[in-house]
Amino acid sequence: MDAACVRRWLEVAAARIEAERNYLTQLDAAIGDADHGTNMHRGFTAVLARAGTLDEAGPGQLLIQAGRTFVSIVGGAAGPLYGTAFIQAGQALGDGDAFGPKRLVEAIRAALAGVQRVGAAVEGDKTMVDALAPGLAAFEEGLRNGTLETGVRAARVAAMEGMRATIPLQARKGRASYLGPRSVGHQDPGATSSALLFAAMEDALVAQRSQRLAAGPTYELGGPR
Ligand code: ADP
Ligand code: MG
Repeated sequence: MDAACVRRWLEVAAARIEAERNYLTQLDAAIGDADHGTNMHRGFTAVLARAGTLDEAGPGQLLIQAGRTFVSIVGGAAGPLYGTAFIQAGQALGDGDAFGPKRLVEAIRAALAGVQRVGAAVEGDKTMVDALAPGLAAFEEGLRNGTLETGVRAARVAAMEGMRATIPLQARKGRASYLGPRSVGHQDPGATSSALLFAAMEDALVAQRSQRLAAGPTYELGGPR
């Protein structure tokens, strides 16, 4: 994987967020202040604009700049939390031009650690951590037993399960916690956007593979044509 992969992920994520912007805002209207879709959309629009000015950036630097953009553009809880996550992930990727699946695990682990350092939420608090943590665990497990693609698919499935599992929970962090027991019965908006970010990883990877297939074989059999 390289900077082009990170760019593709950012682009797919931005498109998914745009498509689900109203849904994310509706979820936030139920247990928050109805701005999560708007926040995420504003953030990703700015991230894509910034990425467009960074032709020479490596994968780590791209994520770091995406994170800084998020922190400076997006207010509320999600801005600093996702911003920190992207910065930490970028730092974990380092200065290299390419990275493998193990480094990607490290990056997601660093992102989750950053979110938990800033937001102090644990699993079960009804936050983005409830999608990120199971997503990371399933990614590691999927990689152990298969390929990058099986890992990413397992991560998306687990993150979406974690997202849905926030419905019966009572929020203990963030704005939704002010509602106390009235936060029960609603899906957490941040867990939903986190699951979308895992889904975007899977889609970006599949898109890359089909582009490779369309470009034709990488080998030369040497037989008659
Ligand atoms: P705000 O709550 O400031 O309006 P957003 O609506 O953009 O910000 O984001 C809300 C989401 O942020 C929540 O659904 C939750 O997933 C996440 N969140 C809030 N507080 C925390 C926290 N302390 N740790 C992790 N995630 C949090
Ligand atoms: Mg909100």
